[in-house]
Amino acid sequence: MFSRKTPAQIATMRRAGRVVAEMHEACTRAARPGATTAEVDAAAREVLDRRGARSNFLGYHGFPAVICASPNEVVVHGIPGPRVLEEGDILSIDCGAIVDGWHADAAITVPVGAIDEESARLIAVTQESLDAAIRVMIVGATLGDIGAAVSGVAEAAGMSIVREYTGHGIGTAMHEEPAVPNYPNGAGHRTKLKGGLVLAIEPMVNLGRAGTRELDDGWTVVTLDGSRSAHVEHTIAITDDGPEVLTLP
Ligand code: MG
Ligand code: MG
Repeated sequence: MFSRKTPAQIATMRRAGRVVAEMHEACTRAARPGATTAEVDAAAREVLDRRGARSNFLGYHGFPAVICASPNEVVVHGIPGPRVLEEGDILSIDCGAIVDGWHADAAITVPVGAIDEESARLIAVTQESLDAAIRVMIVGATLGDIGAAVSGVAEAAGMSIVREYTGHGIGTAMHEEPAVPNYPNGAGHRTKLKGGLVLAIEPMVNLGRAGTRELDDGWTVVTLDGSRSAHVEHTIAITDDGPEVLTLP
C-alpha cells in the first residue's frame, strides 16, 4: 500500500508547497532576456534561505542546483549554468523544498520576454493538461484516469506526451510510490485513489514528436526532433473533500 498522509502531515507539506510557489515567483521574475539560468537558480536559493527551507534537488544523485532549468527543446533536468536566456525562449523551472522533513515539488514553464504563438499555445495546453488531471483526482478515481486526462488534452491539441518520465507519490521523500504515468493504461492504471494520498503530477508536452534523449552530462533531457517542450507540475493531496493543490502561493 502507498503511504497516506494525515491532515497534520498534509498541512506541513502545504507549508513546503508555499515555499516552492514563492521560488517559482522569484524565478519567473529572474527569467528575463539576458539573464543566465544560473541567475534563475540563485533567485530560488534566496527564497529557500529566507524561508529556512532545504532543497530536495541540490545533491539529489549529485545534482548541483536547487532548480532544474530547461529551456526550449530541453524537456526536463536541465542544469542551471552560463546559458543566457534570449527573448522568445521558454523556460521550464522545476524545484522543490523540504520543511520539517516534508517535501513539495512543482514546475512551471514561463515565457522569456515575448514568445511566438506556437510556444504560448504549448504552455497553455500543458497547463490545461495538468488542470484536467487535478479535476479527476477524487477518491475512487484511478491512476489511469489521471493519465487519460493529461494525454487527452495534449493529444487533442496535436501535441505529444513524453512517456519516459512520470509523476510520483511524495511525502517524507521527494519520490515515493506510486509512479503516475501521463498516459492511460500504464503500470498500475487500475489503482484507486484514496484519501491522504499525495501525488506530484507533472505533464511534459512536446510540440513535435514524443521521443527524448539524454545528453552526455547525464542529466539534460531533450526532444529527439528538437521541438520545444513544456513541463508543469503541482503537488496535490487527495482528500475526502476533493483534490487540494499544495504548491500554491
Ligand atoms: Mg518536479
Ligand atoms: Mg516531480
